[in-house]
Amino acid sequence: MQQQYCDVCLPVPLDRLFTYSLPQQMAGLAQVGARVLVPFGPRKLSGTILKLHEVKPEFESRPVEKLLDSEPVFDAQLIQLGVWIARYYFAPIGEVFRVMAPLGGEVRKSKIFALTDEGRAEIRQTLLGLTEAAEAGLAILKNLDERPMSLDALKRKTPEAAKLIAEFQKKGWVKASEEAQERDPLRAPATKLNVEGVAASTTEKLGKWERELLAFLHLHPGAHPLDELEPMVKNASASARALARRGLVKLTPRMGAIRQPAERPRHQLNATQEAAFAAIAAAIRKGEYQSFLLQGVTGSGKTEVYLNAIEACLAEGRSALLMVPEIALTPQVAGQFAMRFGDRVAILHSAFGEAERAEYWRRIRRGEAKVVVGTRSSVFAPLPDLGLILVDEEHDGSYKQEETPRYHGRDVAVVRAQQIGAVVVLGSATPALETRYNAELGKYQHLLLPERIEQRPMPVVECVDMNQEFLETKKHGSFSRRMVEAVKEKLAAREQVMLLMNRRGFSSFCACRSCGHRVPCVNCSVTLTYHRKDRRLLCHYCGYSEKIPEICSQCGSDAIQFIGAGSEKIEADLAEAFPEARVARMDRDTIHSKNDYEEILGGFREGAFDILVGTQMIAKGHDIPNVTLVGIVNADIGLGMPDFRAAERTFQLLTQASGRAGRGGLPGQVILQTINPEHYAVRFASVQDYELFYAKELQFRRVMRYPPFASLANVLFRSERQEEALRMSGEAAELLRSETENVRVLGPAEAPVPRVNKEFRYQMLIKSPQRKRLAELLTKLRDHARTQEWPATAMILDVDPLSLL
Ligand code: ADP
Ligand code: ZN
Ligand code: ZN
Repeated sequence: MQQQYCDVCLPVPLDRLFTYSLPQQMAGLAQVGARVLVPFGPRKLSGTILKLHEVKPEFESRPVEKLLDSEPVFDAQLIQLGVWIARYYFAPIGEVFRVMAPLGGEVRKSKIFALTDEGRAEIRQTLLGLTEAAEAGLAILKNLDERPMSLDALKRKTPEAAKLIAEFQKKGWVKASEEAQERDPLRAPATKLNVEGVAASTTEKLGKWERELLAFLHLHPGAHPLDELEPMVKNASASARALARRGLVKLTPRMGAIRQPAERPRHQLNATQEAAFAAIAAAIRKGEYQSFLLQGVTGSGKTEVYLNAIEACLAEGRSALLMVPEIALTPQVAGQFAMRFGDRVAILHSAFGEAERAEYWRRIRRGEAKVVVGTRSSVFAPLPDLGLILVDEEHDGSYKQEETPRYHGRDVAVVRAQQIGAVVVLGSATPALETRYNAELGKYQHLLLPERIEQRPMPVVECVDMNQEFLETKKHGSFSRRMVEAVKEKLAAREQVMLLMNRRGFSSFCACRSCGHRVPCVNCSVTLTYHRKDRRLLCHYCGYSEKIPEICSQCGSDAIQFIGAGSEKIEADLAEAFPEARVARMDRDTIHSKNDYEEILGGFREGAFDILVGTQMIAKGHDIPNVTLVGIVNADIGLGMPDFRAAERTFQLLTQASGRAGRGGLPGQVILQTINPEHYAVRFASVQDYELFYAKELQFRRVMRYPPFASLANVLFRSERQEEALRMSGEAAELLRSETENVRVLGPAEAPVPRVNKEFRYQMLIKSPQRKRLAELLTKLRDHARTQEWPATAMILDVDPLSLL
C-alpha cells in the first residue's frame, strides 16, 4: 500500500516535525529528502519530507499542496547529518535543513492576507446591518472568509483592494503573512540566464524569431549568456523563454565567472610535505574514516599538500571538499583551484546570489562537480561519494555560525566524515586548543610541517615595550622609534610592509575632558567609536550612528577629546610619518564587497602600494612575497576581553600576522608593540612557538575546567523588557538549582554587553565534564521554555560557544 502521510520539517523555530497527508496523485511520487509546499496556519511554507508513513495522526492533517522536487535533494546521509546537528546543537530541525540546502532562491516569497476573528465578526455584524463596511469592503472580507489571498488576486476582483486592505489591517480584521511559492525560473532577467539548445529542429509551429534562435543555437552548441544574444538574434530573450516552455531550449541561472589568475606553479613536494601527503593518500586509498591534524608553520606549504590529496582522492573516483575561512575565499584563491581542476570544481560562497548558489548546488548534487571549495556552509555540499574533507585554517572563528543553527563547520566536517567513512584533514599553523588536544589523545593523527618551504627562515620578531617607550620619549605616539626606523628601511629598499591594527575606526571613543563622560549607544551598552571619514560616532554592535557632540551632554563642557586609536587613525598617522609612502587600508569600513577585497589585495600584490594597514583581515592566509616587515601596532587589543579564549585568540592573531612576513625569497621581520611584554600569549607568539603556548594554555584550561576539559554551553536570555529577561533567567536558574552532580552552572548574570539592539541580555554558562550530562540540562531548559511558551527566540542555547560576548 502507498504511504499516505509524510512528516515534514519546516523553517520555523519549533523543534518538531509536522504531519501532512498526501493526496492520491502524490502518494507514489513523494520521496524522503524531497521538498514540498505545505499549508502552515494561513501561510504556505516549503519544507523537507523526513519520513513517509501510514500512521494516521491524532489530529486532522492537512494535505500537501505541491511536490517541489521529483528527486530528493537530501540523501539519507545528509538527512542523518541534519538530524545529528539538530540534536547536538539543540537547533530546530527545520532551521537546520533550511541552511543545509541553499535552494531558497527557487521559492518566491509573497504576502498573503487572511481574515482574523474580528474580521469574521465584522462580516456577521455587517450582514445584520450594524456597521458601515462598504459594499466593496464586504466583498473582500467575504473573499477572504473563503481562503487567504494575495493582494494581486484581490485586486483582480476588487480594484480598490489595496486601500481597503490597509484599512482592514489597521482595524485588525485581516492580517498579513508570508507565503512561499515556487519561483518560475524563466522569470529571471536575461543578464542572469544562460541559454542552450536542446532540440535541433521541431515539427512544432514556431514564430520567425523562435526558429532563428533555435537555428543559431544549433550552429553554436553550448550555453550562451542570454543578454549577449540579443544583438545577434532579434527578440532572443522572449523567444528563449517561449522555447524553454516547450522544452526546446534550456535556461539556467548564470554563475559568477572565476577570474583566471596566473597559473599556480606545481611544486615537487619536499620531504615533510611528501610524508604528510603519503599518510593522507594511504588513508584515502583505504576508504575508511580517518582524521588528521596537519600542523604546519606559516609558509610551510600546506596548500600544496591539500592539492595533492584532492588529486589522490579524484584518482580513487571519489569527490573532495575543501573548506576555507570566509575571508580567505577570494577570486584569486578560487582561481587557483579552477586552474588545477578545471570545470570539475564548484565554488560555494555565501556572497553569491541565491539563484547562483542553487545552480552550483544542483551541479554538485548531479555529480558534475567533483571538487568543492567553499566556506562554512559548504560542509553540507551534496557531493556524491565524498572521500576527503579538508578544513584549512581550522582554528578560524568564521567556521562557527553565530545564529541558529549555531553549528561549527569544522566539527560538523569531522562528524560527516565519520558518518560516511571519509578522510578528514584539519590544517593550521595555530590549531585550536581542542584540536591539538584531540591529536594528543590520538583521536587525530598528527602530521607536522615544522619548517618553511626551501628552509626559508621564520621571521625574526622584535618586541617593543610601549611603557618603556613612553618613559623615554614622553610621547604617546602610534609608532615606536624602532617601528619608524624599520618602516623607513623597507620603503628605501622598495620592499612592502603590513601593519596590523585590530580595531576599526579612528579613535576608540570620544570623552569629555571635564567629567569623563563617554558617548554610549542608545541601543547597546557600549561606547560609540569615532569614524573620521563620516565625521560620526558609530556603534560596532548595531550600526547606530550619531553626530559628534559639540558639548558634553552631562556637564556642558566643550572639551571633547578623542582617545585610543583604530585602523583609520593609523592610516592618518602613516600619512604624516611617511608622506611619500603609498598606503592602502583594509577593514570592514573599506571592504564592502568581495571585489573591494580582491582589488586592494591584488593592488598590493602588484606593488601599487607600499604599506597595507588593516584589521585581522590582513592576517589571514595571504601569500605576498615582497612583504618583509609586519608591524603589530597594538598587540594588546583583545587580551583584556572577558572571555577565556582571549589569550588563544591573541596568540593566533599575532602568529598568523607575523607569518605574512618573509614568504618570498627575502627574509622577514616583525615588530610587535605591546604594553604586556610578559604576557605568555605575547611572549610565545614573539618566539613563534605554538607548542610552548599550547602547553601553558592547556594547563590554564585544566585548572579552570574550560574546554577541552569540559563541555560548555552558553544560555542567553533576551528581551526588550528587562524584567522579562531577568524573570526568564531567574526561572532557569531555579530549575537547575538542584542539579549539582557533574555540572557547574555559572550565573545567570548580565551578559558582558548587557544591552544590544535595545534588548536586555542575561546569560548563564553551563559546564560539565560529560557531554551527555550537559545535554540533559539543556533538554530540561528547552522543555521548560516550551511549556512556559516563552517566545521562540527569547532563550538562545549555544553549544560549544566560541564567543561569550
Ligand atoms: P601555508 O599555507 O602553509 O602558509 P602555502 O601553501 O601558501 O603555505 O605555501 C607557501 C609558498 O610556498 C607558496 O608560494 C607556494 O607556492 C610555495 N610552495 C609550496 N610548496 C612548495 C615546494 N614543495 N617547493 C617550492 N615552493 C613551494
Ligand atoms: Zn562632561
Ligand atoms: Zn548599538
